[in-house]
Amino acid sequence: PARAPRGGERAARSRLAEWAGRGLYAYGAGRDDLAGDRTSRLSPFIRFGCLSPLELAGLPDGDFVRQLCWRDFHHQVTLAFPDLNRRDYRPGRARRREDGDAAESWAAGVTGVPIVDAGMRQLREEGWMHNRARMITASYLVRRLGVDWRVGAAHFFDLLLDAEVANNSGNWQWIAGTGNDTRPNRTLNVIRQARRFDPDGDYVRRYVRELEDVPASLIHEPWKAPVPIPGYPPPLAC
Ligand SMILES: Cc1cc2nc3c(=O)[nH]c(=O)nc-3n(C[C@H](O)[C@H](O)[C@H](O)COP(=O)(O)OP(=O)(O)OC[C@H]3O[C@@H](n4cnc5c(N)ncnc54)[C@H](O)[C@@H]3O)c2cc1C
Repeated sequence: PARAPRGGERAARSRLAEWAGRGLYAYGAGRDDLAGDRTSRLSPFIRFGCLSPLELAGLPDGDFVRQLCWRDFHHQVTLAFPDLNRRDYRPGRARRREDGDAAESWAAGVTGVPIVDAGMRQLREEGWMHNRARMITASYLVRRLGVDWRVGAAHFFDLLLDAEVANNSGNWQWIAGTGNDTRPNRTLNVIRQARRFDPDGDYVRRYVRELEDVPASLIHEPWKAPVPIPGYPPPLAC
């Protein structure tokens, strides 16, 4: 990616000290704020063993430790079901279609749905994507475009600095409804999610530069503008 953090234990400890001092206390309230970018961004360091999750579990914030527990959970599931990245954990639940063009537009961040394109471009630029954007982009691919979750998981796996089998496949299967979810038919309404977690559109404007001058009232549905926005495609599906 064009903008990757420095790696290694020293960089990890410095990020931990800096973030824990400023962001830990507000983690629960801010972890879904897309533009605020208030999560720890420790995942690549955890992935490469620069920081131990056990050590992090000692931090004094229940919401943060709960997220770390998801990591542990997906690893335990993978131990019991090593095919997690290949086979549906709960088969027979998903309907799928082949659509190479749609999957390509999704991966390139040109679906015409700003919140999806912002997430996919963040991934390409930074090798990392905010958790809420991962949920929205993944749900759009599998639920709205009907593409197999493995196609999306493979793309994430190629570009994420924190890519790992358990967390990537476990979360993709959760979104696809084939994994460990008590509500397998859960579908995220992408526009509603965008309005809720990026109310002013600042996350979108940061990554989708064609929309820099679009006001908050239209930022998540630019197809409603009286004239098309130059350089930005109409939505594939919305
Ligand atoms: C479709 C999809 C794919 C994902 N793929 C990966 C992946 O390949 N690797 C990966 O580490 N995470 C993955 N996640 C989980 C989550 O998005 C990232 O761990 C998180 O965004 C990393 O940012 P952070 O360090 O700022 O997280 P924080 O919010 O600061 O959380 C702290 C740590 O808790 C763990 N964590 C947080 N949320 C989750 C979660 N939902 N599942 C498992 N562990 C979690 C991570 O280790 C993270 O670093 C995925 C989520 C989705 C929806």
